[in-house]
Amino acid sequence: MPKAQETVLEINLKALEHNFDYLKSKLKPETKFIAVVKAYAYGSDSCEIALYLEKLGVDYFAVAYIEEGVALRQGGVTTPILVLHPQIVNFDILVENRLEPSLYNEKILKEFIEALSKEHITNYPVHIKFNTGLNRLGFWHTDVKMIDNLLAETKTIKVKSILSHLAASEDLNEKIFTLNQIEDFKNIAENFTKQVGYKPLHHICNTSGILNYPEAHFDMVRSGIGLYGFGNSEKENQFFKPIGTLKTVISQIHTIIEGESIGYNRGYIATENLRSATLPIGHADGIGRQYGHGKGFVTINGKRAPIMGNVCMDMIMVNVTDIDCDEGDEVIVFGEHPNAETLAETANTISYELITHISQRVMRVIIK
Ligand SMILES: *Cc1c(COP(=O)(O)O)cnc(C)c1O
Repeated sequence: MPKAQETVLEINLKALEHNFDYLKSKLKPETKFIAVVKAYAYGSDSCEIALYLEKLGVDYFAVAYIEEGVALRQGGVTTPILVLHPQIVNFDILVENRLEPSLYNEKILKEFIEALSKEHITNYPVHIKFNTGLNRLGFWHTDVKMIDNLLAETKTIKVKSILSHLAASEDLNEKIFTLNQIEDFKNIAENFTKQVGYKPLHHICNTSGILNYPEAHFDMVRSGIGLYGFGNSEKENQFFKPIGTLKTVISQIHTIIEGESIGYNRGYIATENLRSATLPIGHADGIGRQYGHGKGFVTINGKRAPIMGNVCMDMIMVNVTDIDCDEGDEVIVFGEHPNAETLAETANTISYELITHISQRVMRVIIK
């Protein structure tokens, strides 16, 4: 790789393939795979990622919102796309783009049936979501009869799958809770199949569900963070490769004299003479203010350089007193080592938040 000369997010498609293969190795050959590519494929690049996964033979994509699905269609993605959190106001766009909604309450189910009836559309694929304990979105188990009654009166929709979502699949202290969710889902699914008279696909696992609950893979699984290289535990992280490496460069080096301050609001006061490096990356690029004041760090020529004082919108200043480095040198913010999870932990957050926050002004460089 040539050295970075500006702030870039390198995206390694070989690492993506490795993660996909690793996750697939945990599944039975017939288990279908939904690649979750919401939020720009977790801050990377949703079209590049989806088109590559399509070539690798992924069965489905999932996004959160309709517009994210539209972007995939415009990028040439032809694989089915599940929209996890569609909004009623955009149903026409959803149908025009052959996106498949996850329907989670009576209101949205009725509205969707009505929208399709107006267009005389039949057998449109939908997914019915049940709440089994996350208490975020989903029908209750007691709604099965009501759903069946609505389905019996219409030919507009065909239920392609039923799904639920685990609340704590990565937390093995919550194993009993999770096993209960899985058991409830099984019962709901059986009841649903009995009522409607055909068997839709069943799915409940996200990445940590795939890794920790093989008995719950059912017909299909949904993975996001694993594809991007994180296993949500130190043990599992070893088997994944982060696909994204965030790099920047040193714009300027300053010699700071004891007693001088650095940055806005004099956020750092030098207690000794030191060397600071200014980098072209700030909170508008996704490195939030919570990484300031020595919590977050970058890596320069193999050594850690902590962030000094406040994170600015477009810049940070890091301490390079003990690092042999020059203006123009490459800087690693996160990548394989240290990874985004390590950096996220310094600010009490998780890899998901850090990687999805890398803003659109950071250039993406795809490595094939
Ligand atoms: C985001 C999301 C996923 C993916 O979860 P990961 O932990 O990233 O694998 C799966 N299912 C639903 C409903 C989601 O919202």
